[in-house]
Amino acid sequence: MPRAWTLAARPQGMPTPADFAIVDLPAAPLADGEVRVANRWLSVDPYMRGRMNDVKSYVPPFVLGEPMTGGAVGEVVESRDGALVVGDMVQHMLGWRDEATGPAAAFTKLPALDVPPQSFLGQLGMPGMTGYFGLLEVAQAKAGDTVFVSAAAGAVGSTVVQVAKAKGMTVIGSAGGAEKAAWVRSLGADAVIDYKAGPVVKALAAAAPKGIDVYFDNVGGDHLDAALASARPNARFAICGMIDVYNDAKPTELKYLARLIGNRVRMQGFIVSDYMDRAAEFYRDMGALLAAGKLRAEETIHDGLDATPDAFMGLFSGGNTGKMLVRL
Ligand code: NDP
Repeated sequence: MPRAWTLAARPQGMPTPADFAIVDLPAAPLADGEVRVANRWLSVDPYMRGRMNDVKSYVPPFVLGEPMTGGAVGEVVESRDGALVVGDMVQHMLGWRDEATGPAAAFTKLPALDVPPQSFLGQLGMPGMTGYFGLLEVAQAKAGDTVFVSAAAGAVGSTVVQVAKAKGMTVIGSAGGAEKAAWVRSLGADAVIDYKAGPVVKALAAAAPKGIDVYFDNVGGDHLDAALASARPNARFAICGMIDVYNDAKPTELKYLARLIGNRVRMQGFIVSDYMDRAAEFYRDMGALLAAGKLRAEETIHDGLDATPDAFMGLFSGGNTGKMLVRL
């Protein structure tokens, strides 16, 4: 019997296991035009925390008691549509469950790149696209720039580090703990701040004495403030995420916000879906970087559907290096 995770209660602050409940899915025969997919990999992503609140946002909230959704990669095991055949590997949004059924159009065959299938949930998927377009399009980062990126050991951040290095930038990352900092440095970062070891504002000023041209924000809070304090004239900030506030409604104190004015800083938020129509360009460029040996991907894997909430909750305590995944 296929099973799926549902949201049992809207988390107050940090999510807990009691906020999730697993349910059996009714066996459903396929209609014409539908396929059945055995999920092999599930993605858990920080943005899902926003969907657990009952507020209007760019993605609708999860409905209590209904199967949750999210990125997944799986194998077609039954097909009543000519576009997909048994054995095809596909990506889709019916995650948080072990089996997905629906119209064939809701499932996309994996691109023909010589990488493991789960890469399309990480560096070659939504998080990778976020880092790539956020850096190169939103922040307009170019060779010679000094780039600061927070959560640099995560899925998005580690892509930003490597794309920026491949394109001739100086990169300063931040991550929690000495081990993660060492890993980010091994990806090519010129300097790495362990933000748990002391104030970010001081560490960034020391790592970038001439300031930064670009800030790729995954964290908000003290990291954003430190970036404002170190911003050079005409710096560009790509505001991608603010994980520091996802579980906490406390207001962010930005002591250096007024630096925006004198330094003519441009700060822009973005959503990766704005760039989905440029996926072919992303695969082409990232494919070339992969072939040139300029990209490395790390994964933190939890096994089994039952582990999905733990994997998700681990995102908020630094439980992952690289992409957080569930393997089925
Ligand atoms: P990550 O793989 O980076 O996982 C989250 C990481 O964030 C953790 O490993 C942890 O690393 C760090 N973290 C957690 N809490 C805090 C905190 N309070 N302060 C500092 N760091 C913290 O996730 P993703 O790469 O998937 O996502 C990164 C960011 O990008 C998120 O903010 C996400 O919401 C955003 N995003 C935005 C998109 C968009 O379209 N705008 C699309 C995709 C992602 P550490 O151990 O170093 O603390």
